[in-house]
Amino acid sequence: MSRYSGPVCRLCRREGTKLFLKGTRCLTEKCAVERRAYPPGQHGNTGGRIKKMSEYAKQLREKQKVKRIYGLTETQFRTTYTKASHLPGVKGTNLLVALETRLDNIVYRMGFASSRPAARQLVRHGHVEVNGNRVDIPSYKVLPGMEVRVVPADREMLAVKVALDTASRGASVAWLSIDTEKVAGRLLELPTRDAIPLAAQEQLIVELYSK
Ligand code: SF4
Repeated sequence: MSRYSGPVCRLCRREGTKLFLKGTRCLTEKCAVERRAYPPGQHGNTGGRIKKMSEYAKQLREKQKVKRIYGLTETQFRTTYTKASHLPGVKGTNLLVALETRLDNIVYRMGFASSRPAARQLVRHGHVEVNGNRVDIPSYKVLPGMEVRVVPADREMLAVKVALDTASRGASVAWLSIDTEKVAGRLLELPTRDAIPLAAQEQLIVELYSK
């Protein structure tokens, strides 16, 4: 299945929550979730009535939400889940750890891009190094101890400057160390569930995929 290329704010409205796909705009009053807090489409506005959801619908919505937050296709998400579910530990937590340690997400968490889509673009265009080597694969798995940085020679390029200027910068999570001067950081350890700032019920995804 191909990647969704339509208006991303529709995805947030569909899930009824901010997925933070548009960088700084997500923090302003222009955010579509703030302005129209109901699902898109002809039947989206129920005039405040809350539709009852089946268990399956809840599981499906949770999976769609997390998949869209990290910007994966269905196939990529399913493959990530399958690999994570074979690891020891809690399946749902393993899934989130696998998603969090993707290179594009690490670049976003380090504050070098204003959104995950912007981080993915930085990686895809070859502006990111891991342990001194350029890596242009957004799904690249970053391991504890690895250093991630924006290629020094590329920092003055317009696209990179825009990404860096609109990024938040600074340590957002304790399991990453960040040097904002060098636009570099390191994954200190794999995160625990409590250390992942994501409002998701990953157990629902496990239940969905376990059917
Ligand atoms: Fe989602 Fe950001 Fe659009 Fe708001 S502005 S609806 S958070 S993508």
